[in-house]
Amino acid sequence: MFKIIFVLISLLVSSCASSHSTNQNSQAPVPTPEEKTEEEATASMLVALSFDDGPNNTITPEMLDILEEHGVPASFFVIGQYINDSSAEQMKRAVSLGCEIQNHSYTHSFMTQLPIESVKDEIKRTDDLIEKYVGTRPTLFRPPYINHNTSMHDAIDHTFISGVGCQDWEANRTAQMRYDDLMAKVQDGDIILLHDFEGNVNTVEALKMIIPELKKRGYTMVTVSELFKRKGVTPKDGYIYTNVLQETPYQNR
Ligand SMILES: [Zn+2]
Repeated sequence: MFKIIFVLISLLVSSCASSHSTNQNSQAPVPTPEEKTEEEATASMLVALSFDDGPNNTITPEMLDILEEHGVPASFFVIGQYINDSSAEQMKRAVSLGCEIQNHSYTHSFMTQLPIESVKDEIKRTDDLIEKYVGTRPTLFRPPYINHNTSMHDAIDHTFISGVGCQDWEANRTAQMRYDDLMAKVQDGDIILLHDFEGNVNTVEALKMIIPELKKRGYTMVTVSELFKRKGVTPKDGYIYTNVLQETPYQNR
């Protein structure tokens, strides 16, 4: 009996040794299973911060200061009618920090109520302004109030984006409430939806807590476009994304 076990162990040891020597002979070092698992786990923890309703010269720069301090990018979904020579400086600074500028309509209306030609005009005017100031044309669109329908999906080429929020447009919700609400929900692949409209100081304070906590939980923050790429997801027409890994067909057919 002992002899049989000894032979089995010898066989096991020799087979391990031979596989090890094969690894040594190959050109690229093969990572140990532990290393690979750790690397994959880290790579999979991604979220995107996004801000709606700018640009402006009060709250937008405060958000940018925090992003710069922590070295993380975000996606800004801007309202066309707020873009002018002055506020555009904030968009340029955002891009210089690795952020992207995307489309949140021109007038922030309930777009399902608009004639389709107006819907197209809202998108085009905002795209044109963004391209004029930062040189890139948006590919993503967040419908105001997440109000959308079939006609809008047919008329607009952009990928529709929603997000995981914390009702941060309600003035009576403190920074702590916004932080707690968001942190209870956030998961891998999420698009986090916040607002940089004028006066939204509680979200400025919440962001100061949100970014360090996301880092502590192992998340890397990227732009929404980068989130799709890094997760290997090709966005589909007729969908609206809150999490790039969970494809939700729009509900308002
Ligand atoms: Zn909005």
